[in-house]
Formats: sequence, structure tokens, C-alpha cells
Amino acid sequence: METRNVQRRDQKKSWYKKNIARLTVERRTYQHKRYERLRQAVLAFYGNKCSRCSFNDSRALQLDHIFGGGTKEHCLHGTDTTYNRALKFSHEYQLLCANCNWIKRVENKETKPRLESCDA
Ligand SMILES: [Zn+2]
Repeated sequence: METRNVQRRDQKKSWYKKNIARLTVERRTYQHKRYERLRQAVLAFYGNKCSRCSFNDSRALQLDHIFGGGTKEHCLHGTDTTYNRALKFSHEYQLLCANCNWIKRVENKETKPRLESCDA
């Protein structure tokens, strides 16, 4: 019985080593698709356009934390949680294009290098 369990364990290890590259690609593809679906849901929830200038190319739209603290939230909870929160607490977030988001950062003096980082 013990020998059989060891054989099965070795077979599983061998199979995993042989298939790890394919499994890694499949996992990343799945995660990317899930992330894109969530991102598209968030963009649609906020009207698919910048709340300041109405720019609507989704490639340049970013979720902005109206009251700041986005880097901290992202570091603590990750993108998925931030997007899911954005779908529940719409008064804390807005959609901005990359230009408007940077302009807002400059206006709010949030552009100091590494003022907030995941390491802090
Ligand atoms: Zn804009």
C-alpha cells in the first residue's frame, strides 16, 4: 500500500513537471481574461468615459480614487479587490483618462516620487 502511494506521488510529480509550462500559460491566460472582464465591468459601470473630459478610449481610462489613497489600497488589497470595491462604493471612485489623472495628481501635489509605495 505504501509503495503504491509513493508510486502515485512520483507519477503526479512527474506529470506536473512535464506539464508545468502549459499549466502556467493556461493559468496566466485565465487570470488575464478574468482581469479584463472585471476591468470592462468597471469601465461600463462608470460610463466608459473620463469624468472630466469625456475621452472614451478604454486603453487610456484609469480608475481614480477621488479622495486619494489609491496606491495604498492597491498595495494592500490588489487590483481585483479595488475593482470590486469600485463596483460597490461608486462615491469613492471615478473614471479618468491618463491625462486627466496626471493633471489631478499635479493639482493635488501627489507627484512626489515614491511618496507611497508597496514597500513603505
Ligand atoms: Zn480626461
